[in-house]
Amino acid sequence: MIRDKLYIFDTTLRDGAQTQGVDFTVEDKLKIAKILSDIGVDYIEGGWPGANPVDTKFFGTPPELNKSILTAFGMTKKTGRSADNDPGLAQLLSANCQAVCIVGKAWDFHVKVALGIKNEDNLENIRETAKYFIKNKKEFLFDAEHFFDGYKANPIYALNCLREAYDAGARWVVLCDTNGGTLPNEIGEIVDKVSKIIPGKNLGIHAHNDTENAVANSLTAVLAGVRQIQGTINGLGERCGNANLMSIIPTLFLKKTFNEKFEININKDKLPTLTECSRLLDEILNKKSNKSMAYVGSSAFSHKGGLHVSAVQKDPKTYEHIDPKLVGNHRSIIISNQAGRANILSRLKRYGIKIDSKDPKVQKILDEVKHREFSGYSYDGADASFELLANRLLGKVPEYLKVQNYKVIISKSESIKTTANVNFLIDGKLIECNGTGNGPVNALDNAIRSNFKKVEKYYKFFFDLKLLDYKVRILNTGTEATTRVLIESTDKLGVSWFTVGVSPNIIEASFKALIDSLEYKLYKEKAPANLNEK
Ligand SMILES: [Zn+2]
Repeated sequence: MIRDKLYIFDTTLRDGAQTQGVDFTVEDKLKIAKILSDIGVDYIEGGWPGANPVDTKFFGTPPELNKSILTAFGMTKKTGRSADNDPGLAQLLSANCQAVCIVGKAWDFHVKVALGIKNEDNLENIRETAKYFIKNKKEFLFDAEHFFDGYKANPIYALNCLREAYDAGARWVVLCDTNGGTLPNEIGEIVDKVSKIIPGKNLGIHAHNDTENAVANSLTAVLAGVRQIQGTINGLGERCGNANLMSIIPTLFLKKTFNEKFEININKDKLPTLTECSRLLDEILNKKSNKSMAYVGSSAFSHKGGLHVSAVQKDPKTYEHIDPKLVGNHRSIIISNQAGRANILSRLKRYGIKIDSKDPKVQKILDEVKHREFSGYSYDGADASFELLANRLLGKVPEYLKVQNYKVIISKSESIKTTANVNFLIDGKLIECNGTGNGPVNALDNAIRSNFKKVEKYYKFFFDLKLLDYKVRILNTGTEATTRVLIESTDKLGVSWFTVGVSPNIIEASFKALIDSLEYKLYKEKAPANLNEK
């Protein structure tokens, strides 16, 4: 049977960026674009070049993507101006990307109230904008804003808006449920009618989640004919969010209704990376993950309570709709540590650590990880700290940086001054490190690295080390607040690693994460051991 092709359009970087509290930097955008490109979504909407400095800069030096098409977002031309003379369109045309997605009105109420122009003018704006980009060789997508509300109010006009874009040569006409209030049955009926006028292979769906139906609406639209789905990682988006691609993608792959009829360009091998992708976005946003998120949440396959657990242990199918491994998640059984062991083993394997599954050291690592997680550690985003911890418990990491004591002094008279002092014992010698910086972590880092010239055997490992990012999260565990610090480091090879430190004291948490970062560098480059007598 020939299966129809479905296209995935990600709008995390544009619509997702509308979320309250989300403020992507250019670096965040580049990171997210890379994750999406690795997964293999068809389109990545990068933002609105010209609308704000971050988006302009992002398109100025666009990321290298695999097969994903970078898309710029913008608005139809202004009324009373020709498309050729519209500076907004010119800016979009000059953006470094293959495709543009242009939003325009499809609801006469909005044309009147929001734009204050005539219905015909809006149609002309859509038509001329589409023609302008198409003649200038951009792949053109038309986002028909408020299409469903527009269709309910005035179907003829709403359809005319779509027709203008389609007849001018738009590759995609995207039906938007901008206010997110349309229900799945309505979506099905309306898409069915639209697809008699514009072929489904040119139709997309953009659903908001205001009735918790964005995923259902997207899937219903596909069954009714559309062939492009727009959504975001974790359903990120303004108000109640957008359609969540972390649920849509696995559904398309794993549910018979869809996988028998449709194929998508995303490689099935990438499916197990979705859990990580979801958590990485939370990490970038410095946000606690939603445990109960479908497919990828940490509770999505956790079982508690006698009957369920014993049934799941006999056959997981009793209480699981899919095998969690398929999406990179794992089963956790709260009263037994079977799942914890399997999880630890799979992580050890990921870092190339060979160990027999029956080796008692597996239990030792599990106990230590559990103990640390209880006190606030999280190794989900801290691969380097996990690798170090496991290898230390396996006796594979020699002693490197033996810290005797450290001190940080922050003083303010006219300006803030931070000085740090760290004393190490290396090869039996006391190494005193003093330095200053613009804050405690910077001062500690400067103190250590500027003084390691005194330790020739380690100095050469540190000169190319760079701290890229520093994130602090306050965790509320019972009566006291605990601080978790995550540091991202890199070196001349350009590969970054993440380390974590936890303490009720923010400086101590930072110091732990910093020392882990330095020790990880020494470990991965097989630096010689510190020869202190034990
Ligand atoms: Zn939207």
